[in-house]
Amino acid sequence: MKRWKLVIGGRVVETESYQDVTNPATGAAVGAMPMAGPPEVDKAVAAATAAFASWRQQPDEARADACRAIAAKIEANAEELARLLTLEQGKPLNGLGSRYEIGGAVAWTRYTAELVLPVEVLQDGPEGRVELHRKPIGVVGSITPWNWPVMIACWHIIPAVRTGNTVVIKPSPLTPLSTIRLVELINEVVPPGVVNVVTGENEIGALMSAHPGIAKVTFTGSTATGRKIMASAAGTLKRLTLELGGNDAGIVLPDADPKAIAEGLFWGAFINGGQTCAALKRLYVHDSLYDDVCRELTAYAEKVVVGDGLDEASVLGPVQNRRQYEIVSTFVDEARAKGGRILLGGNPTGGPGYFYPVTLVADVAHGCRLVDEEQFGPALPIIRYHEVADAIAKANDNASGLGGSVWGRDLEAARKVASQLETGSVWINKHGAIQPNAPFGGVKQSGVGVEFGVDGLKEFTTIQTVFC
Ligand code: NAD
Repeated sequence: MKRWKLVIGGRVVETESYQDVTNPATGAAVGAMPMAGPPEVDKAVAAATAAFASWRQQPDEARADACRAIAAKIEANAEELARLLTLEQGKPLNGLGSRYEIGGAVAWTRYTAELVLPVEVLQDGPEGRVELHRKPIGVVGSITPWNWPVMIACWHIIPAVRTGNTVVIKPSPLTPLSTIRLVELINEVVPPGVVNVVTGENEIGALMSAHPGIAKVTFTGSTATGRKIMASAAGTLKRLTLELGGNDAGIVLPDADPKAIAEGLFWGAFINGGQTCAALKRLYVHDSLYDDVCRELTAYAEKVVVGDGLDEASVLGPVQNRRQYEIVSTFVDEARAKGGRILLGGNPTGGPGYFYPVTLVADVAHGCRLVDEEQFGPALPIIRYHEVADAIAKANDNASGLGGSVWGRDLEAARKVASQLETGSVWINKHGAIQPNAPFGGVKQSGVGVEFGVDGLKEFTTIQTVFC
C-alpha cells in the first residue's frame, strides 16, 4: 500500500507515523496518510512565508498563467485524480461523481485565472486622487471537508494564489490522498512553498487556526467546527471565510408540475448522496399536489443505480464514513418512530461498506431531527403545507441559511417567495446549481463571507487606500 508524503516547500516530507485511509464502499485500505504534527505545521507555514515574499511581487499576469497551468495539469491527470477520489471518498466515477468533480475543479480554476482586481479610482479631481488597491494577505490556511475534497481545495487554493497569497492546506483525514496528489501536481507548475499540504487528524486544523504565521483561514466544513475556528482565530485576528453547514429548504408551490420537477428535486437532494452543503435537505410540498410529488419523486428515485463507485454503472455511492452513516440511520429511525411514512429505502442491508439506501420520508414535521438538523446523507423529509406563508416561515425557522429553492410554473410568484427566504443563494426550479462567476456563501449560521467570482476573489485581499 502506498505511503503518501507531505509536500512542504516543494519537497516531499516523510512523517514518523501513518494512518490508513479506507474505501467507504468496501472497508479496504487504499493508502496511508502521513501524520503531521506541530513541527510539520511550523515547517509548512515557514515555507509558505518564505515563498510569499517573492510570490506577492510577481506580475499579476504571471500568477494568472500559473493558475492556467494548474488547470491544464489537473485536466491532464483527471482520470487518475478521479479514481483516487472514488477510492477514498466513495462517490462514483460517473453521474455527478468524481469525473464531474475533477471537471468542476478545472472549470473553477480556469475561470478564476482570468479574474482581475484592477486599481479602483474612487476620486480624481481638484481635491485630490483616491485609489483603492488590493493586496495579498499572506499565508492562507485552508481547511477542507470530505464531501468534495478536490473541488473545494481548488476553491480555496486558486483564488488565494491568484491574488498573491501562499497556502498551507489541510484536507479532511477521511479524504486526504486526492488533495496530496493535487498539491503534487500544483507543485509541478508553481514555485516551491507557494502551495503546501499537511495531513493528520483534526488537531492539525486547530493548530493552523491559532498559528501566528497564518494570516487568513478559509474553511469549509461543519458549523460546529466553524465556531471553534472563529474562536481560536480570534487570538491573532485572522481574516476568515467560513463556508458552513446548511439545512436547505425547497418549497413546491401549488402550480408546480410534479412530473416535470421530479428529476431536479431528486438531484437537488441526492447529489453526492446528499453529502453536499447546498443540497436540498427539507422539502415542503403544498397539500394539493403532495401525493403526486411523492409518487413522481419515488418513481424517479427507484431507478437510480447505487453501488461501488468504480462500477461504471453506479451514479450514487456509499455514505463516506461510519459517523455520517449513523447520523442518517438515527435520524430516519426517529422520523419513522414519530409517524414518518417511508416511501422508499430506510432499511440498510448492512455491510460491507456504508451503503445507506436512497430514502424518502413523507408525513414528517418540525420537531424531528431529520427536519430540524442537517442529515448530510441520502434521506429526504417531505413536509406537507397548506399556506405558502406557513411554508416560508417554516423554511426560515432554522439557524442555517445556506441555500433554498422554490418550484412552480409562475416564475414571478416563485420569485416573490424566493425573495423571502433567509439564505445566501436561492434557486427557482432547481437547487444547488453553483457556478464560478456567482458568489456563494451562507447567511445566519451557515457562514461568513463568500466564494467565487470577483466577490470571492476579494476575500483573499486586504485593501490599501492611497490618497495623493
Ligand atoms: P468537519 O467540520 O467535521 O471537518 C472539516 C475540516 O475541519 C476537516 O479537515 C477537519 O479535520 C477539520 N477540523 C475538525 N476540527 C477542527 C478544529 N477544531 N479546528 C480546525 N479544523 C478542524 O466537517 P466535515 O464533516 O468534513 O464536512 C461536512 C460539513 O461541511 C457539513 O456540515 C457541510 O454542510 C459542510 N460543508 C459546507 C460547505 C459550504 O460551502 N458551505 C461545503 C461543503 C461542506
